Amino acid sequence: MSIVMKFGGTSVADAAAFENVARIVGAQREASPVAVVSAMNGVTDGLLTSTTTASERNAREAIASLQTLFDRHKRVAKELLAAAEAEKFSERVDNAAAHVSELLRNIEESPSEFSPLQDAIVSNGETLSSTLLAEVLKQQGIAARQVDARRCIVTDEQFTSASPLIEQTFFATKNELRPLLENKIVPVLGGFIAATATGATTTLGRGGSDYTAALIGAALETHEIQIWTDVTGVLTADPRVVPEAQTVERLSYGEAAELAYFGAKVLHPKTIQPAIESCIPVRICNSHAPHERGTLVGPQTETTPRTLKAIAHKTGVTTVQITSARMLGAYGFLRALFEVFERHRTVVDVVTTSEVSVSLSLDDDSTLPEIVEELMKLGTVGIEKGLAIICVVGEGLQGKPGIAAKVFSTISDINVTLISQGASRINFTFAIEEARVNEAVRRLHEAFFTAKDRAAD
Ligand code: ADP
Ligand code: ASP
Ligand code: MG
Repeated sequence: MSIVMKFGGTSVADAAAFENVARIVGAQREASPVAVVSAMNGVTDGLLTSTTTASERNAREAIASLQTLFDRHKRVAKELLAAAEAEKFSERVDNAAAHVSELLRNIEESPSEFSPLQDAIVSNGETLSSTLLAEVLKQQGIAARQVDARRCIVTDEQFTSASPLIEQTFFATKNELRPLLENKIVPVLGGFIAATATGATTTLGRGGSDYTAALIGAALETHEIQIWTDVTGVLTADPRVVPEAQTVERLSYGEAAELAYFGAKVLHPKTIQPAIESCIPVRICNSHAPHERGTLVGPQTETTPRTLKAIAHKTGVTTVQITSARMLGAYGFLRALFEVFERHRTVVDVVTTSEVSVSLSLDDDSTLPEIVEELMKLGTVGIEKGLAIICVVGEGLQGKPGIAAKVFSTISDINVTLISQGASRINFTFAIEEARVNEAVRRLHEAFFTAKDRAAD
């Protein structure tokens, strides 16, 4: 039995944070931990920006922009490691910097190879942070070894948002990690990064380290997957919008998946699937307050007295409405419609239908012009941009009268479109104009959470 402990970028922002992570891992040494770590805070963003700069034929500026980012790694090593180890790590950083510079020049020369080169460049963030964490653990007397995640997570060739090939991933992960665990060595892997079967570097999409942690947990059948971040678990709303949001103690897999999918950044949406399939509990903990229990996500489906567990929201949503009399009594229409989205690899979030029209929402509208062109063959197409989706989540929500009425009366002065309840028994989802989303979330939180607490006092 073992556990996976994943630490996000804010948990490894500087030397003090690395030291803190080593303490947290050390405290659970008896549970045979596998550590998964993100790049240091801001490093993925910095590397991604450098790739854009290089693609604008400015590799020299891109390379210069990364100097401080590489230096940050060296500074942590200097502060925490013995001189010889710090020196060795410094050399690794210099090698990574030289390799990244070469790749940036390649981008400038052959922009058509952008996506694979981008993945190869950003992977350095996690490679360096995991190497550094393994060294810091050793320095603290904990037997640890960095393992290249590309030897464990095997994916397809969809660069920048690759999908894991589960069977190969499980096989490779077990092969790589079990011998270390049997010898009481803590494996330390970079999250987010992976490789194709032929060894080309890929990544799992932004925030993908959570997904890596879940895949490793499922492969090793660990008894828990811990996601360590900078807040105490999943909160009743995004704390950047609702500062008084509170920790939700327990969530079902379904509830957590809906929240993650509709904007609760604390958990990558794909994280839940491998955990569900292996029935492994996922705990979200705060590395700045390690004794707080955080949120436990598991197979239990509990209904609480207030029914709602949390509110999620996401911005930058576009809706598409297709109206066609051909829909009336005809079969094959919806299939033709969805095939358009499939051909353009565009994910549809929420769908509602009436007799003669279908409305759906997209959070990535980069392929919209091509999609609209094809949809016009099926009917009249209307587009609305600048929307946000709000999703209220709770087991038992569907059977509870009055939730929708309360939502609508709380934000009665805001125009609500695209309302969806029913596909999932646990969420109620709708779109509003983006400019008013923070206000709407605050008011809903006040009505469903804060006001109740006051009544209970
Ligand atoms: P990490 O670097 O650890 O992966 P992320 O930034 O990806 O951290 O996720 C944590 C952040 O998610 C929090 O700091 C918080 O601002 C944001 N967040 C959004 N919605 C929620 C929510 N419902 N509960 C907790 N955090 C949320
Ligand atoms: N470093 C990656 C990102 O910033 C992956 C992660 O942190 O989960 O998106
Ligand atoms: Mg994250």
